[in-house]
Amino acid sequence: MVTIISRATWGAKAWNGTPASVSLSQRTEFFVHYDGGTPITRTGYAIMRAIEAEHLGNGWSGVGYHFVVDQAGNIYEGRGWGLQGAHCPNHNVSGIGVQIAIGGDQEPSAKALAACRALYEEACKKTGRTLAKRGHRDGFATACPGTKLYTWVKAGMPAGDYAPAPNPGGSLPGSGSAVSRAQVTINGLVYGYGAKGDHVTKVGQALVKAGFGKHYTSGPGPTWTDADTVNYQDFQESLGFSGADADGIPGETSLKELLGTLPGKVTAKPAPPFPGSDKFGPGKNNSHITTLGKQLVKKGFGEHYTTGPGPKWSDADRLNVRDFQRSRKELASDADGLPGPVTWKLLFS
Ligand SMILES: [Zn+2]
Repeated sequence: MVTIISRATWGAKAWNGTPASVSLSQRTEFFVHYDGGTPITRTGYAIMRAIEAEHLGNGWSGVGYHFVVDQAGNIYEGRGWGLQGAHCPNHNVSGIGVQIAIGGDQEPSAKALAACRALYEEACKKTGRTLAKRGHRDGFATACPGTKLYTWVKAGMPAGDYAPAPNPGGSLPGSGSAVSRAQVTINGLVYGYGAKGDHVTKVGQALVKAGFGKHYTSGPGPTWTDADTVNYQDFQESLGFSGADADGIPGETSLKELLGTLPGKVTAKPAPPFPGSDKFGPGKNNSHITTLGKQLVKKGFGEHYTTGPGPKWSDADRLNVRDFQRSRKELASDADGLPGPVTWKLLFS
C-alpha cells in the first residue's frame, strides 16, 4: 500500500480540459523522471504547484506526471492511475510517469527511492504485470532523469522499506500561509491535525453540509487531516475571520456557529470531600452512604444492590466497594469493602 497525497489536498487547480482516461491494462512501463538540470529547494505542496504552473504553461491539462515523489518520501497525485500522462511522447498511455523531485546533481534520498519503488510495486500489482523499468531517456532524447536516477533505474531500482511519510503540509492556494498543524482542546475534546474521535467526524460532516467540504477527497472521517483544517479555514473566512483567526483550527465561536452547540464533556463536579471512615460500616446510616452508593452505580459497581442505594449501610455497599477496590491496583491489596480516603478519591475522580 502506498499513501498518496491527493490533488485536492495539495491544492491542484481544476484540469485545463480533461485528460483522456487510460485503463490499467494499457500500462506496460514505468518511467522515472527528475525535475531538470537545476537543483530544487521547494518542499511539500509547493513542489506540486511549481510543476503544475510549468505544465499548464506548456498548454497541458495540469501536472503531466502520474505521480511525484519528494525527498521526504511523500507521494503526490498528478494524473493518478487512470489518466493519460504528459511526460514522455509516445509513452503517455503505456507509461506511468513518476518524477522524483530533485534536479541537477542532487542526491535522491533513501526515502524518495523507497517511495518510488513502492509506487512501482503498486503499479505492477494494479496492472497485474511486471512493468518495464525505464528512465525518461529510454523513451526520448533527454538528460532526464539525470545520471544518478538513471543508474538507479538500470540497477533495477533497489530500495529499502517504504514507510509513508507524514503529510508535509505546505501552503495552499489563497491561504498564503502553511496549513496549521496546531491542536486545540475545547470542552475536553481535541481539534486540529491528528485529533481523533466522533467529534472530528461530526465537524467534517457539518462542514460538508454547510458547503465547506471541497478539500475532502475521502471522508470526512474520525481523524483530523489537513483537508479538515483547510475546509474549516474556508468556513472561518466565511464568518469574517481572517489572518490568525482563520487558521483552520476551531475556536469556540466558530465551532458553536458550525454545530449549533459546543460539544464536549461537561466539566465534572468536584469530588465531595471524604467524610471520614467512621461514616461507613455496619450499623451506620447517613447521606454519605447514599452518595457513595450512587457513585458506585455510576462507575459500574452497583451489581450487588437489589434495592437502593440508600443511607443505611448494607452488605451490598460493602461488596460493591470491594469490587471497586479490587479493580484498582492501588487498592487491590486492601480491598476490605470499607472506603478510605484513597478509595473515595479514586471513586470520585
Ligand atoms: Zn523526464
